[in-house]
Amino acid sequence: MSNQTHATSTDAPRETPPTIIVIFGASGDLTARKLAPAIFNLSKDDLLPESCYLIGYGRSSMSDEAFRDYLRESLASHSRRPIEEATWDALAPNISFHAGGYDELDSYKELDTKITAIEESLGSYAQCLFYVSTPPGVFMPILENLGTSGLAKRHKGQATASKVIIEKPFGRDLQSAHELNGVINRRFEESQVFRIDHYLGKETVQSLLVQRFANSIFEPVWNRNYVSSVQITVSENLGVGSRGGYYDRSGALRDMIQNHVMQLLALTAMEPPSSLDPEAIRDEKVKALQALKPVAFTGDDPEVVRGVYTEGLVDGQRADGYLEEEAIPQSSSTETYAALRLSLDNWRWKGVPFYIRSGKRLAMKASEIVVQFSRPPAILFGEGQRFKVEPNLLVIRIQPNEGITLYLNSKVPGLETKLQPIKLAFGYETTFGSNTPEAYERLILDALNGDGTLFIRGDEAETSWSLLSPVLEFWEAQGKNGLESYSAGTWGPLAADKLLLKGGHEWLTGKEYQ
Ligand code: NDP
Repeated sequence: MSNQTHATSTDAPRETPPTIIVIFGASGDLTARKLAPAIFNLSKDDLLPESCYLIGYGRSSMSDEAFRDYLRESLASHSRRPIEEATWDALAPNISFHAGGYDELDSYKELDTKITAIEESLGSYAQCLFYVSTPPGVFMPILENLGTSGLAKRHKGQATASKVIIEKPFGRDLQSAHELNGVINRRFEESQVFRIDHYLGKETVQSLLVQRFANSIFEPVWNRNYVSSVQITVSENLGVGSRGGYYDRSGALRDMIQNHVMQLLALTAMEPPSSLDPEAIRDEKVKALQALKPVAFTGDDPEVVRGVYTEGLVDGQRADGYLEEEAIPQSSSTETYAALRLSLDNWRWKGVPFYIRSGKRLAMKASEIVVQFSRPPAILFGEGQRFKVEPNLLVIRIQPNEGITLYLNSKVPGLETKLQPIKLAFGYETTFGSNTPEAYERLILDALNGDGTLFIRGDEAETSWSLLSPVLEFWEAQGKNGLESYSAGTWGPLAADKLLLKGGHEWLTGKEYQ
């Protein structure tokens, strides 16, 4: 087989103008662990514009020198590759820190003056990429002040127009997401806005589009005629650790399902877009999300389950229950696990259940999409239960060990006719080596180039919230009533298994077949 690779038209080299990246919340954890390593790895690969500046913004009083030292240490601890002196020396003189409050308009005006001075020294305009990497409570004042100070409108309509990346969470319900979109729409054009969900920067998630639409074998079977269920699992084996305070205000539905899991669902369920244009792709994702039927959370057959972990064994060690974790109040009714049975009311997927789940302190860390195909008619090998004919599965593994596995039934060698599922497996690391770029590298590069394909559009975020907000409101009203429990280190509450029984299914991630 040829080992040739083909670039798509969206990957063609682009002329990126001189750029000034401003990170709000630059003294924080995300900058140290992800953003600085991503920027330096892009620089190492010569993917940053020739003139690139980095300004950290925050309330911390830090000198330029101290900020550079902070980034240098972060790179040493968190970069996927060592950053050599040459790469560091090229960018370091262009790094500075701007101390200021997030709600102090004067500080934004001073930032504007600093940016203009950089442009004057360059003798040309520069595009600004504002990265909002603070806790969500200050997203609004930052966006408002970017607007009032004029920073949002710099070089409007030109190639150097300002851009803004907004971190997750994008709202905590439909109303707050709508309000945030309101501020964004008043201050920016949608083409300037990049709502990040770092899952979309992961290699397997991007390649889902390629798998589906660059191979003709999947499209004919990717529908209700051949697929019996789709399962999406995003599980963690860790507990909340030191992030208890944050997590208790969030929960599994807000923290993982509303964004990551719904994005995976949209990419799996969407119709083929008319082109690789970002808007064409995002239009199809929105349509898929709009086709989701409202979730039944009451009655005889509820389609949602929530749970919280109690003490259990993880890797042979006793693990605390959620209520014993740091900063969690005894009165907490926050779910650390959520599972839903969803269905899409459209031609392609009518009648196919989409089972989704996410939780903490589960049996393993895994992010997977499992497409379960229909069983073959039981006329040959299924007769009289002599043989077990398993349904074919396509497993798309996002982490760990990114890859794709197709499960087929095969004959066990021997004189007897005995069937056994076998795997056709592809692993990214085995085929392409281990040095895959981090999600943030891909996403920052795309934002610099103005490509919004892998970012969430405002209407996508609101469509996802409109499905889940009623569930959250119901849970809030119920308090602990109906909150299931599960032992740490297991696959979640039993009630979540019952969600699948009606369709004759069971959760597959973590089962023997792997
Ligand atoms: P941090 O809590 O580390 O905060 C970042 C910076 O924001 C702080 O260094 C501080 O800077 C400022 N800040 C902190 N609390 C407040 C506050 N209450 N009011 C105003 N400013 C505050 O956040 P992270 O870096 O961990 O995350 C940044 C964003 O990225 C968040 O929205 C988070 O949800 C998201 N995110 C983070 C991930 C991670 O792994 N950390 C992963 C995915 C998303 P200063 O005091 O200097 O102003």
